[in-house]
Amino acid sequence: AGNVEFRDVHFSYDPNRKILKGVSFEVPAGKTVAIVGPSGAGKSTISRLLFRFYDVQSGEVLIDGQDVRDVTQESLRSAIGMVPQDTVLFNDTVAYNIRYGRMDASQDEVRRAAELAQIGPFIERLPEGYATMVGERGLKLSGGEKQRVAIARTILKAPPILILDEATSALDSHTEQEIQAALDLVSKDRTTIVIAHRLSTVISADEIIVLKDGQIAERGTHADLLRQN
Ligand code: ADP
Ligand code: ADP
Repeated sequence: AGNVEFRDVHFSYDPNRKILKGVSFEVPAGKTVAIVGPSGAGKSTISRLLFRFYDVQSGEVLIDGQDVRDVTQESLRSAIGMVPQDTVLFNDTVAYNIRYGRMDASQDEVRRAAELAQIGPFIERLPEGYATMVGERGLKLSGGEKQRVAIARTILKAPPILILDEATSALDSHTEQEIQAALDLVSKDRTTIVIAHRLSTVISADEIIVLKDGQIAERGTHADLLRQN
């Protein structure tokens, strides 16, 4: 399960400006497709359409052959996991933040997910702002640490489809390598859509789609695209 398909998708937020102009691609279940392109190309819009935050004007967005318009919000939320650019944490412990999305998980499961995402030592701590409110010393999490929380949450939730939206963009290269290793682990055998600015960050994708101005400008493996450019 987890096949994702966009069929000739046209989309605009407002009628005067087309954002996606006939985008078609398929991510076979378990494979990884990267969507690469400059800022404003429409990359994040693709993930919003998959979650059905918006509906397409024409064409189809399908999960396992089923139009997302025929899927409940609840099943979409459980089928798709997202590691966003900026993770906003809830005002509760790191453990709670990891468990969010799978409240039935045991302490052990939460701990294991945290360890895989390399945020293990922090799980009982409270993020800074909230801790002050309850009179405790808070934990100031860096951007990279918040991303690890999001990754741990995704490891625990184990959704069939994963969206990684510039998941390593704001990190220094050492942290990026560590996070990348954790992400490779979560995306293994899982349908994955990676959204990125740079070709160099998506070497291992099964297919790379270069999106420019709402259209697919090029597609192929990393090696194909290097050859063409
Ligand atoms: P990318 O992820 O490639 O940077 P986006 O999909 O976020 O691009 O955005 C594509 C275009 O759509 C941009 O020009 C952006 O300004 C516009 N856009 C994004 N979200 C909205 C919105 N909610 N309402 C109107 N325009 C939007
Ligand atoms: P990012 O992809 O950087 O997280 P967004 O995808 O939310 O940011 O937005 C991308 C671009 O779309 C930004 O330039 C933003 O100003 C613009 N944008 C976002 N939401 C809207 C909106 N509701 N109306 C108009 N422009 C928007």
